[in-house]
Amino acid sequence: MLKHRNIIVLCLLLLVLLFALNAKWWAFLFILMVFVGVTSWGSFDLRLSYFLTAHCNNPKEKEDKIAITFDDGPHEMTEKVLDLLQNYNAKATFFCIGTQIEKHPDIMNRMMSEGHILGNHTYFHSKSFGFFSAEKVKEEILKNDSLLFQFTNKKIKFFRPPFGVTNPNVARAVSETKHTVIGWNIRSLDTVIDDENKIFERIKSKIEPGGIILLHDTSLKTVNVLEQLLLLLQSEKYDIVTIDKLLNLPAYED
Ligand SMILES: [Zn+2]
Repeated sequence: MLKHRNIIVLCLLLLVLLFALNAKWWAFLFILMVFVGVTSWGSFDLRLSYFLTAHCNNPKEKEDKIAITFDDGPHEMTEKVLDLLQNYNAKATFFCIGTQIEKHPDIMNRMMSEGHILGNHTYFHSKSFGFFSAEKVKEEILKNDSLLFQFTNKKIKFFRPPFGVTNPNVARAVSETKHTVIGWNIRSLDTVIDDENKIFERIKSKIEPGGIILLHDTSLKTVNVLEQLLLLLQSEKYDIVTIDKLLNLPAYED
């Protein structure tokens, strides 16, 4: 919220200055456009921590440790993801959607029993999430928390907003629910790009210690990419850890 507040103050000061200088109308329009541009950029790039603090990697990590995160499950494909993770002795963090959790409780139990970590990705994952009131965002988070609780028996701490969208309402809701917001710094674009090799090459070029990879456990394409990725990380002696271990932050609270 701090950066957003600073930008508001800065733009207001500039507007007052322009007014005092009797500036032309287009100068005011220019400031307004810059404000809209910066705010929209801040809404869609969690790495800027524009409205709230989001953890997108561990910049201090010097050892070859990396985290793989999966959004939007559990899904029929998650079983294949879990098989692969087991084969490569890798632990992952799953940001689950409430409506999907209700469909696949067995997969949730398997994730827990195999040592993976669960995070909150809202109950509905609504396309209108960015337009929700703070109250509605809070409701979405808390409803999913209580579903997740059935599997963890502990309060979930990690939250990832749908589409990585943040705004003042999301910031207010998260500060009230006291979740830790988790982003990513290695975006696979696995829901956008069709070519598996392109997705893999994209991830490969960004791999670094302390990185957080974003994948979706919702397609066979991602399962295939994951297999290549696990092979690569194994050959490069990377330790694939859960978010709590990468960031030294608690995943759950008693
Ligand atoms: Zn999502």
